[in-house]
Amino acid sequence: MVHFVGAGPGAPDLITVRGAKMLEQADVIIYAGSLVNPALLERAQANCAVYNSATMTLEQVIDVMRAAEKEGKTTVRLHTGDMSLYGAIREQMDRLDELGIAYDDTPGVSSFCGAAAALCAEYTLPGVSQSVVITRMAGRTPVPERERISNFARHGATMVLFLSTGLLEEVQAELLQGEYTEQTPAAIVYKATWPEEKVVRCTVGTLAERAKQEGIHKTALILVGDFLGTEYDRSLLYHPAFTTEFREGTEK
Ligand code: SAH
Repeated sequence: MVHFVGAGPGAPDLITVRGAKMLEQADVIIYAGSLVNPALLERAQANCAVYNSATMTLEQVIDVMRAAEKEGKTTVRLHTGDMSLYGAIREQMDRLDELGIAYDDTPGVSSFCGAAAALCAEYTLPGVSQSVVITRMAGRTPVPERERISNFARHGATMVLFLSTGLLEEVQAELLQGEYTEQTPAAIVYKATWPEEKVVRCTVGTLAERAKQEGIHKTALILVGDFLGTEYDRSLLYHPAFTTEFREGTEK
């Protein structure tokens, strides 16, 4: 059996209780060493075999899983954040299907949630934005043309950019082709929830410059939108005049 487990954004106590138990019971752990906090490995049993996938190919990862399965062992595949985002899990699961190896999936706290927490921010403010666009700049992995940042920027919605900190001049130019302006609030969150976390509040016009000043070029998220500003509408749900299934409104 292979358990895919989301490690969370960094802080070792932000893994789920279920994920932690799986780590404690694993015979084999394959962790994404470039981003998973190694402190999580302290949960491993003394005789657990630990592999860092940062130095492995997909084929090597599958070989380790296959060998463990043959010996009736349990493997945890530990991915950063939540593995449904930029996790490269599908290709592993499809190969496990071909090999007839069973697996399951335990979610984690994605770094985009860790970054919101670092700012104590709400992405979906009434009267500001009710949508979150999660995307990235094209790097070595291409992004379909229809998903260009400039296309999403037309909506002016809350935007979270993964994997793009090295390309901030291009990011700025793409963002400015839509609804955002140079003054639209933005933030750079480096290593959210790690001890070395850094939060840089800036604007769309100063993203590249501020990242350079702070020496941030990777392991960061770029957040964009007026949810980082000061204006919003209060929620209807908690408004005294609003009647819900659970509460009678008191005012007309
Ligand atoms: N599955 C992961 C994302 C993996 S892609 C998740 O759900 O978070 C790797 C990218 O995620 C990094 O380049 C960076 O943009 C972002 N990232 C991962 N952990 C981060 C953290 N703690 N703080 C800020 N950004 C992070």
